[in-house]
Amino acid sequence: MTEPTADPELFDKIVNLSKRRGIVFQSAEIYGGFRSTYDYGPIGVLLLRNVKDQWWKSMVQMRHDVVGLDAAILSPPQVWEASGHLANFSDPLVDCTNCNARHRLDKLDDPNVCPTCGSSGTFTEPRAFNLMFKTHAGPVEGAGAEVYLRPETAQGMFVDFMNVLNTSRKKPPFGIAQIGKSFRNEITPGNFVFRTREFEQMEMEYFVPPGDSAHWYEYWKNERHQWYLDLGMPEDMIRLREHDDDELSHYSSGTADVEYLFPWGWDELEGIANRGDYDLNQHKEHSGERIEYFDQQANERWIPHVIEPAAGATRTAFAFLLAAYDEEVVNDDTRTVLRLDPRLAPYKVAVLPLSKKDTLTPTALEVFDQLKTRWMCDYDETQAIGRRYRRQDEIGTPFCVTVDFDTLEDRAVTVRDRDSMGQDRVSLDQLDGYLAERLP
Ligand code: ATP
Repeated sequence: MTEPTADPELFDKIVNLSKRRGIVFQSAEIYGGFRSTYDYGPIGVLLLRNVKDQWWKSMVQMRHDVVGLDAAILSPPQVWEASGHLANFSDPLVDCTNCNARHRLDKLDDPNVCPTCGSSGTFTEPRAFNLMFKTHAGPVEGAGAEVYLRPETAQGMFVDFMNVLNTSRKKPPFGIAQIGKSFRNEITPGNFVFRTREFEQMEMEYFVPPGDSAHWYEYWKNERHQWYLDLGMPEDMIRLREHDDDELSHYSSGTADVEYLFPWGWDELEGIANRGDYDLNQHKEHSGERIEYFDQQANERWIPHVIEPAAGATRTAFAFLLAAYDEEVVNDDTRTVLRLDPRLAPYKVAVLPLSKKDTLTPTALEVFDQLKTRWMCDYDETQAIGRRYRRQDEIGTPFCVTVDFDTLEDRAVTVRDRDSMGQDRVSLDQLDGYLAERLP
Protein backbone atom coordinates (compact mmCIF):
# COMPACT_ATOMS: atom_id res chain seq x y z
CA MET A 1 0.00 0.00 0.00
CA THR A 2 1.34 3.47 -0.82
CA GLU A 3 1.59 5.95 2.03
CA PRO A 4 -1.03 8.69 1.78
CA THR A 5 0.35 12.20 1.37
CA ALA A 6 -0.89 15.48 2.75
CA ASP A 7 -2.59 17.67 0.16
CA PRO A 8 -1.71 21.32 0.89
CA GLU A 9 -3.96 22.63 -1.94
CA LEU A 10 -7.02 21.14 -0.30
CA PHE A 11 -6.80 23.69 2.50
CA ASP A 12 -7.64 26.71 0.32
CA LYS A 13 -10.33 24.77 -1.51
CA ILE A 14 -12.13 24.05 1.76
CA VAL A 15 -11.74 27.61 3.05
CA ASN A 16 -13.17 28.95 -0.22
CA LEU A 17 -16.01 26.44 -0.31
CA SER A 18 -16.84 27.27 3.30
CA LYS A 19 -17.18 30.95 2.53
CA ARG A 20 -18.97 30.46 -0.79
CA ARG A 21 -21.56 28.04 0.50
CA GLY A 22 -22.19 29.36 4.01
CA ILE A 23 -20.34 26.70 5.96
CA VAL A 24 -17.95 28.86 7.99
CA PHE A 25 -17.58 32.64 8.04
CA GLN A 26 -14.88 34.78 9.57
CA SER A 27 -16.50 36.23 12.66
CA ALA A 28 -17.25 39.99 12.79
CA GLU A 29 -16.25 40.19 9.12
CA ILE A 30 -17.98 43.54 8.54
CA TYR A 31 -15.59 44.98 11.17
CA GLY A 32 -12.54 43.51 9.51
CA GLY A 33 -12.86 40.12 11.21
CA PHE A 34 -11.98 39.08 14.74
CA ARG A 35 -8.87 36.94 14.60
CA SER A 36 -9.24 33.23 15.17
CA THR A 37 -12.98 33.19 15.79
CA TYR A 38 -15.42 31.80 13.28
CA ASP A 39 -19.17 31.63 12.79
CA TYR A 40 -20.89 28.53 11.45
CA GLY A 41 -23.28 29.52 8.65
CA PRO A 42 -26.54 27.86 7.58
CA ILE A 43 -24.74 24.80 6.16
CA GLY A 44 -21.94 24.62 8.73
CA VAL A 45 -24.28 24.71 11.70
CA LEU A 46 -26.04 21.61 10.37
CA LEU A 47 -22.77 19.77 9.75
CA LEU A 48 -21.47 20.64 13.21
CA ARG A 49 -24.73 19.56 14.85
CA ASN A 50 -24.63 16.27 12.97
CA VAL A 51 -21.06 15.58 14.12
CA LYS A 52 -22.09 16.29 17.72
CA ASP A 53 -25.28 14.25 17.37
CA GLN A 54 -23.34 11.24 16.05
CA TRP A 55 -20.89 11.49 18.94
CA TRP A 56 -23.74 11.79 21.46
CA LYS A 57 -25.57 8.89 19.87
CA SER A 58 -22.59 6.57 20.02
CA MET A 59 -21.33 7.75 23.43
CA VAL A 60 -24.62 8.23 25.33
CA GLN A 61 -27.73 6.99 23.53
CA MET A 62 -26.30 3.62 22.45
CA ARG A 63 -24.84 2.85 25.88
CA HIS A 64 -26.42 1.89 29.17
CA ASP A 65 -23.24 2.84 31.04
CA VAL A 66 -22.84 6.51 30.04
CA VAL A 67 -24.96 9.51 31.08
CA GLY A 68 -24.87 13.10 29.88
CA LEU A 69 -24.13 16.44 31.50
CA ASP A 70 -24.25 20.11 30.56
CA ALA A 71 -22.15 22.03 33.08
CA ALA A 72 -21.57 25.77 33.39
CA ILE A 73 -18.94 27.55 31.32
CA LEU A 74 -18.15 30.16 33.99
CA SER A 75 -16.34 28.66 36.94
CA PRO A 76 -14.67 29.85 40.14
CA PRO A 77 -10.87 29.81 40.57
CA GLN A 78 -11.07 26.92 43.06
CA VAL A 79 -11.94 24.49 40.25
CA TRP A 80 -8.86 25.46 38.26
CA GLU A 81 -6.67 25.60 41.32
CA ALA A 82 -7.59 21.98 42.07
CA SER A 83 -7.35 20.78 38.49
CA GLY A 84 -3.85 22.21 38.16
CA HIS A 85 -4.81 24.55 35.32
CA LEU A 86 -3.94 27.74 37.21
CA ALA A 87 -0.43 26.52 37.82
CA ASN A 88 0.24 24.41 34.76
CA PHE A 89 -2.11 25.13 31.88
CA SER A 90 0.42 27.12 29.97
CA ASP A 91 2.35 26.89 26.75
CA PRO A 92 6.01 27.88 26.41
CA LEU A 93 6.10 31.14 24.47
CA VAL A 94 9.13 32.50 22.60
CA ASP A 95 9.55 35.78 20.71
CA CYS A 96 11.88 36.19 17.75
CA THR A 97 14.09 39.24 18.40
CA ASN A 98 14.67 39.61 14.66
CA CYS A 99 11.10 39.74 13.31
CA ASN A 100 9.03 39.95 16.53
CA ALA A 101 7.00 36.86 15.61
CA ARG A 102 5.65 34.91 18.57
CA HIS A 103 5.75 31.11 18.59
CA ARG A 104 4.82 28.14 20.74
CA LEU A 105 8.15 26.48 21.48
CA ASP A 106 6.72 22.95 21.70
CA LYS A 107 5.23 23.22 18.18
CA LEU A 108 8.43 24.29 16.37
CA ASP A 109 10.20 21.88 14.02
CA ASP A 110 13.54 23.30 15.17
CA PRO A 111 13.52 25.05 18.59
CA ASN A 112 16.30 27.43 17.45
CA VAL A 113 14.95 28.53 14.08
CA CYS A 114 12.18 31.08 13.59
CA PRO A 115 9.74 29.71 10.97
CA THR A 116 8.61 33.27 10.14
CA CYS A 117 11.94 34.87 9.17
CA GLY A 118 14.27 31.84 9.11
CA SER A 119 16.84 33.34 11.49
CA SER A 120 18.57 31.12 13.99
CA GLY A 121 19.29 31.71 17.68
CA THR A 122 17.11 34.83 17.86
CA PHE A 123 14.52 33.53 20.31
CA THR A 124 13.99 34.99 23.78
CA GLU A 125 14.01 32.65 26.78
CA PRO A 126 10.71 30.71 26.85
CA ARG A 127 8.00 32.15 29.10
CA ALA A 128 5.06 30.17 30.44
CA PHE A 129 1.84 31.70 29.14
CA ASN A 130 -1.41 30.64 30.86
CA LEU A 131 -4.11 29.87 28.33
CA MET A 132 -7.17 30.53 30.46
CA PHE A 133 -9.48 33.47 29.83
CA LYS A 134 -10.14 35.32 33.04
CA THR A 135 -13.02 37.71 33.65
CA HIS A 136 -14.97 38.92 36.65
CA ALA A 137 -18.50 38.32 37.88
CA GLY A 138 -20.73 41.07 39.25
CA PRO A 139 -20.27 44.82 39.29
CA VAL A 140 -17.03 44.98 41.27
CA GLU A 141 -13.75 44.02 39.65
CA GLY A 142 -10.96 42.58 41.72
CA ALA A 143 -10.19 39.73 44.06
CA GLY A 144 -13.15 37.61 44.99
CA ALA A 145 -14.96 38.32 41.74
CA GLU A 146 -12.58 36.47 39.42
CA VAL A 147 -14.04 33.77 37.24
CA TYR A 148 -12.69 31.74 34.35
CA LEU A 149 -14.12 30.58 31.07
CA ARG A 150 -13.54 26.83 31.10
CA PRO A 151 -10.60 25.73 28.94
CA GLU A 152 -12.04 22.18 28.77
CA THR A 153 -15.39 20.58 29.55
CA ALA A 154 -13.85 17.73 31.54
CA GLN A 155 -13.74 19.41 34.95
CA GLY A 156 -17.55 19.58 34.97
CA MET A 157 -17.65 15.79 35.08
CA PHE A 158 -15.18 15.61 37.97
CA VAL A 159 -16.76 18.39 40.02
CA ASP A 160 -20.24 16.86 39.55
CA PHE A 161 -19.05 13.27 40.00
CA MET A 162 -20.75 12.69 43.38
CA ASN A 163 -23.98 14.39 42.25
CA VAL A 164 -24.16 12.11 39.22
CA LEU A 165 -23.14 9.02 41.19
CA ASN A 166 -25.82 9.68 43.81
CA THR A 167 -28.63 10.41 41.36
CA SER A 168 -28.05 8.27 38.28
CA ARG A 169 -27.94 4.75 39.80
CA LYS A 170 -24.74 4.08 37.85
CA LYS A 171 -21.66 2.48 39.35
CA PRO A 172 -18.17 2.02 37.96
CA PRO A 173 -17.49 1.27 35.22
CA PHE A 174 -19.62 4.14 33.97
CA GLY A 175 -19.12 7.40 32.14
CA ILE A 176 -20.27 11.02 32.07
CA ALA A 177 -20.29 12.75 28.70
CA GLN A 178 -20.55 16.39 27.74
CA ILE A 179 -20.47 18.51 24.60
CA GLY A 180 -19.88 22.23 24.87
CA LYS A 181 -17.79 25.29 24.29
CA SER A 182 -14.31 25.72 25.69
CA PHE A 183 -12.00 28.72 25.54
CA ARG A 184 -8.23 28.94 25.33
CA ASN A 185 -6.16 32.02 24.77
CA GLU A 186 -4.02 30.22 22.21
CA ILE A 187 -0.66 31.80 21.34
CA THR A 188 -0.74 30.63 17.77
CA PRO A 189 -4.31 30.07 16.62
CA GLY A 190 -4.56 29.15 12.98
CA ASN A 191 -5.13 26.69 10.20
CA PHE A 192 -8.71 27.91 9.82
CA VAL A 193 -10.95 26.27 12.46
CA PHE A 194 -8.28 23.76 13.53
CA ARG A 195 -7.00 25.91 16.39
CA THR A 196 -9.25 28.71 17.60
CA ARG A 197 -9.66 30.53 20.90
CA GLU A 198 -13.31 29.51 21.20
CA PHE A 199 -14.19 25.97 20.16
CA GLU A 200 -16.40 23.03 20.99
CA GLN A 201 -15.36 19.83 22.66
CA MET A 202 -16.91 16.39 23.04
CA GLU A 203 -15.51 14.76 26.15
CA MET A 204 -16.33 11.71 28.22
CA GLU A 205 -14.88 10.67 31.58
CA TYR A 206 -15.16 6.93 32.14
CA PHE A 207 -14.82 5.96 35.82
CA VAL A 208 -13.48 2.46 36.45
CA PRO A 209 -12.27 0.28 39.34
CA PRO A 210 -8.55 1.08 39.84
CA GLY A 211 -7.36 -2.36 38.71
CA ASP A 212 -9.27 -2.20 35.42
CA SER A 213 -7.92 0.99 33.91
CA ALA A 214 -5.46 -0.65 31.49
CA HIS A 215 -8.26 -2.76 30.01
CA TRP A 216 -10.59 0.23 29.56
CA TYR A 217 -7.81 2.37 28.11
CA GLU A 218 -7.35 -0.17 25.31
CA TYR A 219 -11.10 -0.46 24.89
CA TRP A 220 -11.68 3.29 24.45
CA LYS A 221 -8.74 3.74 22.09
CA ASN A 222 -10.30 1.19 19.75
CA GLU A 223 -13.85 2.48 20.13
CA ARG A 224 -12.87 6.03 19.34
CA HIS A 225 -10.66 5.11 16.38
CA GLN A 226 -13.50 3.04 14.97
CA TRP A 227 -16.01 5.91 15.32
CA TYR A 228 -14.19 7.99 12.69
CA LEU A 229 -13.89 5.04 10.34
CA ASP A 230 -17.59 4.16 10.70
CA LEU A 231 -18.50 7.69 9.66
CA GLY A 232 -16.51 7.41 6.48
CA MET A 233 -13.00 8.65 7.24
CA PRO A 234 -10.63 6.78 4.89
CA GLU A 235 -8.60 4.23 6.84
CA ASP A 236 -5.24 5.54 5.57
CA MET A 237 -6.02 9.13 6.60
CA ILE A 238 -6.60 8.36 10.25
CA ARG A 239 -4.28 6.78 12.82
CA LEU A 240 -3.82 6.19 16.53
CA ARG A 241 -0.51 7.48 17.87
CA GLU A 242 0.62 6.45 21.34
CA HIS A 243 2.47 9.21 23.21
CA ASP A 244 6.12 8.70 24.12
CA ASP A 245 6.92 8.73 27.84
CA ASP A 246 8.33 12.27 27.65
CA GLU A 247 5.04 13.58 26.20
CA LEU A 248 2.91 12.21 29.06
CA SER A 249 1.58 14.43 31.82
CA HIS A 250 2.88 13.39 35.22
CA TYR A 251 -0.42 11.76 36.24
CA SER A 252 -1.07 9.92 32.98
CA SER A 253 -0.01 6.33 32.53
CA GLY A 254 -0.97 6.33 28.88
CA THR A 255 -2.19 8.77 26.23
CA ALA A 256 -2.89 8.17 22.58
CA ASP A 257 -4.04 10.65 19.95
CA VAL A 258 -6.39 9.97 17.09
CA GLU A 259 -4.69 11.84 14.27
CA TYR A 260 -5.89 12.89 10.85
CA LEU A 261 -3.68 13.63 7.85
CA PHE A 262 -4.48 17.35 7.52
CA PRO A 263 -3.24 19.37 4.52
CA TRP A 264 -0.16 20.30 6.63
CA GLY A 265 0.49 16.78 7.93
CA TRP A 266 -0.64 14.47 10.75
CA ASP A 267 -2.32 16.34 13.58
CA GLU A 268 -4.57 15.66 16.55
CA LEU A 269 -8.33 15.18 16.45
CA GLU A 270 -8.76 13.59 19.84
CA GLY A 271 -6.74 12.48 22.86
CA ILE A 272 -7.53 9.33 24.85
CA ALA A 273 -5.86 9.36 28.25
CA ASN A 274 -5.56 7.07 31.23
CA ARG A 275 -5.68 9.74 33.95
CA GLY A 276 -5.59 7.47 37.00
CA ASP A 277 -7.28 8.97 40.08
CA TYR A 278 -5.55 12.34 39.69
CA ASP A 279 -8.61 14.52 39.03
CA LEU A 280 -11.00 13.10 41.62
CA ASN A 281 -8.21 13.08 44.19
CA GLN A 282 -7.38 16.71 43.54
CA HIS A 283 -11.00 17.78 43.96
CA LYS A 284 -11.32 15.63 47.06
CA GLU A 285 -8.31 17.34 48.64
CA HIS A 286 -9.20 20.87 47.59
CA SER A 287 -12.91 20.73 48.40
CA GLY A 288 -12.59 18.64 51.55
CA GLU A 289 -15.63 16.68 50.37
CA ARG A 290 -15.90 12.91 50.42
CA ILE A 291 -15.34 11.99 46.79
CA GLU A 292 -15.20 8.23 46.43
CA TYR A 293 -17.18 5.17 45.51
CA PHE A 294 -18.49 2.77 48.15
CA ASP A 295 -18.35 -0.73 46.76
CA GLN A 296 -21.03 -2.49 48.81
CA GLN A 297 -20.18 -6.00 47.69
CA ALA A 298 -16.53 -5.74 48.69
CA ASN A 299 -17.33 -3.34 51.54
CA GLU A 300 -14.55 -1.06 50.29
CA ARG A 301 -14.24 2.64 49.51
CA TRP A 302 -12.07 3.68 46.61
CA ILE A 303 -11.50 6.50 44.17
CA PRO A 304 -12.28 5.44 40.61
CA HIS A 305 -9.64 5.76 37.91
CA VAL A 306 -10.53 7.67 34.77
CA ILE A 307 -10.20 7.02 31.06
CA GLU A 308 -10.87 10.16 29.06
CA PRO A 309 -11.60 10.33 25.33
CA ALA A 310 -11.45 14.10 24.59
CA ALA A 311 -12.33 15.22 21.08
CA GLY A 312 -12.86 18.57 19.39
CA ALA A 313 -16.23 18.98 17.65
CA THR A 314 -15.23 21.94 15.49
CA ARG A 315 -11.90 20.36 14.58
CA THR A 316 -13.57 17.05 13.75
CA ALA A 317 -16.22 18.71 11.56
CA PHE A 318 -13.33 20.35 9.65
CA ALA A 319 -11.62 16.98 9.19
CA PHE A 320 -14.85 15.41 7.88
CA LEU A 321 -15.11 18.28 5.36
CA LEU A 322 -11.56 17.70 4.19
CA ALA A 323 -12.07 13.95 3.93
CA ALA A 324 -15.33 14.35 1.97
CA TYR A 325 -14.07 16.84 -0.62
CA ASP A 326 -13.83 15.44 -4.13
CA GLU A 327 -13.54 16.79 -7.63
CA GLU A 328 -14.34 14.88 -10.80
CA VAL A 329 -14.58 15.81 -14.45
CA VAL A 330 -18.06 15.43 -15.90
CA ASN A 331 -18.68 16.49 -19.51
CA ASP A 332 -15.48 18.57 -19.58
CA ASP A 333 -16.59 20.36 -16.45
CA THR A 334 -15.22 19.90 -12.94
CA ARG A 335 -17.85 18.77 -10.50
CA THR A 336 -17.12 19.43 -6.82
CA VAL A 337 -18.84 17.02 -4.50
CA LEU A 338 -18.76 16.52 -0.74
CA ARG A 339 -19.02 12.79 -0.29
CA LEU A 340 -20.17 13.08 3.32
CA ASP A 341 -21.73 10.13 5.08
CA PRO A 342 -25.52 10.82 4.88
CA ARG A 343 -25.62 10.98 8.69
CA LEU A 344 -23.30 13.99 8.57
CA ALA A 345 -24.70 15.65 5.45
CA PRO A 346 -26.24 19.04 6.32
CA TYR A 347 -29.32 18.38 4.20
CA LYS A 348 -30.43 14.83 3.44
CA VAL A 349 -32.76 15.84 0.60
CA ALA A 350 -33.23 18.89 -1.62
CA VAL A 351 -36.66 19.47 -3.15
CA LEU A 352 -36.33 21.26 -6.48
CA PRO A 353 -39.20 22.31 -8.73
CA LEU A 354 -37.87 22.07 -12.27
CA SER A 355 -38.80 25.63 -13.07
CA LYS A 356 -39.99 28.55 -11.05
CA LYS A 357 -43.48 28.35 -12.40
CA ASP A 358 -46.45 28.88 -10.13
CA THR A 359 -47.87 25.63 -11.45
CA LEU A 360 -45.06 23.56 -9.90
CA THR A 361 -44.58 25.39 -6.61
CA PRO A 362 -47.63 24.01 -4.73
CA THR A 363 -46.73 20.41 -5.56
CA ALA A 364 -43.07 20.97 -4.72
CA LEU A 365 -44.00 22.45 -1.35
CA GLU A 366 -46.32 19.48 -0.77
CA VAL A 367 -43.32 17.17 -1.34
CA PHE A 368 -41.22 19.29 1.02
CA ASP A 369 -43.95 19.02 3.68
CA GLN A 370 -44.15 15.28 3.14
CA LEU A 371 -40.42 14.81 3.80
CA LYS A 372 -39.57 17.52 6.32
CA THR A 373 -40.77 15.77 9.48
CA ARG A 374 -38.35 12.94 8.86
CA TRP A 375 -35.35 14.55 7.19
CA MET A 376 -33.62 17.92 7.12
CA CYS A 377 -34.59 19.15 3.65
CA ASP A 378 -33.58 22.09 1.52
CA TYR A 379 -35.98 23.82 -0.87
CA ASP A 380 -34.63 25.77 -3.83
CA GLU A 381 -36.52 27.01 -6.85
CA THR A 382 -34.22 29.55 -8.49
CA GLN A 383 -31.60 29.03 -11.26
CA ALA A 384 -31.25 26.33 -13.89
CA ILE A 385 -31.68 22.81 -12.53
CA GLY A 386 -28.09 21.83 -13.44
CA ARG A 387 -26.68 24.62 -11.32
CA ARG A 388 -28.93 23.70 -8.44
CA TYR A 389 -27.71 20.09 -8.61
CA ARG A 390 -24.11 21.32 -8.49
CA ARG A 391 -24.86 23.47 -5.46
CA GLN A 392 -26.35 20.48 -3.64
CA ASP A 393 -23.31 18.38 -4.64
CA GLU A 394 -21.04 21.02 -3.13
CA ILE A 395 -22.80 20.90 0.21
CA GLY A 396 -23.05 17.11 0.19
CA THR A 397 -26.82 16.60 -0.13
CA PRO A 398 -27.28 12.85 -0.80
CA PHE A 399 -30.56 13.16 -2.78
CA CYS A 400 -32.22 15.76 -4.97
CA VAL A 401 -35.95 15.32 -5.62
CA THR A 402 -37.10 17.14 -8.74
CA VAL A 403 -40.73 18.04 -9.31
CA ASP A 404 -41.44 18.52 -13.04
CA PHE A 405 -44.46 19.04 -15.24
CA ASP A 406 -45.07 15.29 -15.51
CA THR A 407 -45.37 15.16 -11.72
CA LEU A 408 -48.68 16.97 -12.02
CA GLU A 409 -49.94 14.07 -14.15
CA ASP A 410 -48.20 10.95 -12.84
CA ARG A 411 -47.63 11.95 -9.17
CA ALA A 412 -43.99 10.86 -9.49
CA VAL A 413 -40.66 12.69 -9.05
CA THR A 414 -37.08 12.26 -10.24
CA VAL A 415 -34.65 11.31 -7.48
CA ARG A 416 -30.99 12.03 -8.22
CA ASP A 417 -28.17 10.36 -6.30
CA ARG A 418 -25.28 12.66 -5.31
CA ASP A 419 -22.48 10.15 -5.79
CA SER A 420 -23.50 8.27 -8.96
CA MET A 421 -25.64 11.09 -10.41
CA GLY A 422 -28.02 8.24 -11.36
CA GLN A 423 -31.70 9.15 -11.53
CA ASP A 424 -34.82 7.15 -10.61
CA ARG A 425 -38.43 8.00 -11.21
CA VAL A 426 -40.27 7.38 -7.95
CA SER A 427 -43.98 7.79 -7.27
CA LEU A 428 -44.85 10.16 -4.44
CA ASP A 429 -46.50 7.47 -2.36
CA GLN A 430 -43.29 5.39 -2.52
CA LEU A 431 -40.91 8.29 -1.94
CA ASP A 432 -40.58 7.98 1.85
CA GLY A 433 -39.83 4.28 1.58
CA TYR A 434 -37.33 4.81 -1.24
CA LEU A 435 -35.41 7.42 0.74
CA ALA A 436 -35.67 5.54 4.05
CA GLU A 437 -33.91 2.55 2.47
CA ARG A 438 -31.01 4.77 1.46
CA LEU A 439 -30.80 7.26 4.33
CA PRO A 440 -30.15 6.40 7.96
P1 ATP B 1 -2.88 20.94 21.42
O1 ATP B 1 -1.69 20.18 21.90
O2 ATP B 1 -3.14 20.81 19.93
O3 ATP B 1 -2.96 22.37 21.90
P2 ATP B 1 -4.33 19.55 23.43
O4 ATP B 1 -3.61 18.26 23.41
O5 ATP B 1 -4.06 20.55 24.49
O6 ATP B 1 -4.22 20.26 22.01
P3 ATP B 1 -6.74 18.59 24.56
O7 ATP B 1 -6.60 19.42 25.78
O8 ATP B 1 -6.42 17.13 24.66
O9 ATP B 1 -5.90 19.25 23.39
O10 ATP B 1 -8.20 18.82 23.97
C1 ATP B 1 -8.95 17.78 23.41
C2 ATP B 1 -9.38 18.12 22.01
O11 ATP B 1 -10.00 19.41 21.96
C3 ATP B 1 -8.24 18.21 21.01
O12 ATP B 1 -7.90 16.93 20.52
C4 ATP B 1 -8.85 19.06 19.92
O13 ATP B 1 -9.66 18.29 19.04
C5 ATP B 1 -9.74 20.00 20.69
N1 ATP B 1 -9.05 21.29 20.86
C6 ATP B 1 -8.13 21.62 21.80
N2 ATP B 1 -7.72 22.89 21.64
C7 ATP B 1 -8.39 23.38 20.56
C8 ATP B 1 -8.41 24.64 19.88
N3 ATP B 1 -7.68 25.66 20.32
N4 ATP B 1 -9.22 24.78 18.82
C9 ATP B 1 -9.99 23.76 18.37
N5 ATP B 1 -10.02 22.55 18.97
C10 ATP B 1 -9.25 22.35 20.05
